[in-house]
Formats: sequence, C-alpha cells, structure tokens
Amino acid sequence: MRPLGDFSTEALLRELARRNDGERHLKPVTRWCENCTHWRNSTSEADTCNNCTRDHAMEFRMPESPSSEDYGFYRRGCQDWSRRLEPRPAPPSRGSQPRRAT
Ligand code: SF4
Repeated sequence: MRPLGDFSTEALLRELARRNDGERHLKPVTRWCENCTHWRNSTSEADTCNNCTRDHAMEFRMPESPSSEDYGFYRRGCQDWSRRLEPRPAPPSRGSQPRRAT
C-alpha cells in the first residue's frame, strides 16, 4: 500500500468526501483509469500534468485495507474509457519505493 504522502491533498479530501457521502449505494468501480488507454504515468515529481490524456477530472479511491486491490483513479461513466491491451510501462520510482501509479 502506498503511503498517504504519495497522494495529493485534493485526492485525499475527495476520498474523505466520498466515504462521508456513503458511496456504498453506488455500483463498485470496475473501470480503473490505470487500465485505460488514455492513462499516462507522471514522468517525475515535478510533472503535474493531468494523468488522463483526455484531460478529464478523476476521482481517487484509497485502499480500505493493506491487502485491498480496489484503489486508484477512476471516473464514473467515462465515455472515453477503453481497455489498455498492452502492459503499462512501469512508473518511475521515487527513492527505493516502487510506485503503482501517479
Ligand atoms: S477512464 Fe476516462 S478519465 Fe480515466 S484515464 Fe480513461 S479517459 Fe481519462
């Protein structure tokens, strides 16, 4: 699981709002942005460009347990989502800790 310091304040606040709003009434997320052809990894710490190449705003879900696989960026009902067929290149590492996605 990634440390909280890896996430932006905006992403963390949205996650708190999501949990407070009771998203449990919505269907589970099945289309994650990192599995979309329009996702790109950040190239460095200074790279603040949108990770969606279509420039969509995305939501972020925090893992609810250390073993959780259901976390990452998503956009409900995104009309541009298309499954990435080829493996995504590994994101750049920060220090010695590998990063799942940025
Ligand atoms: S699912 Fe939509 S928001 Fe997410 S990366 Fe793809 S195009 Fe962008």
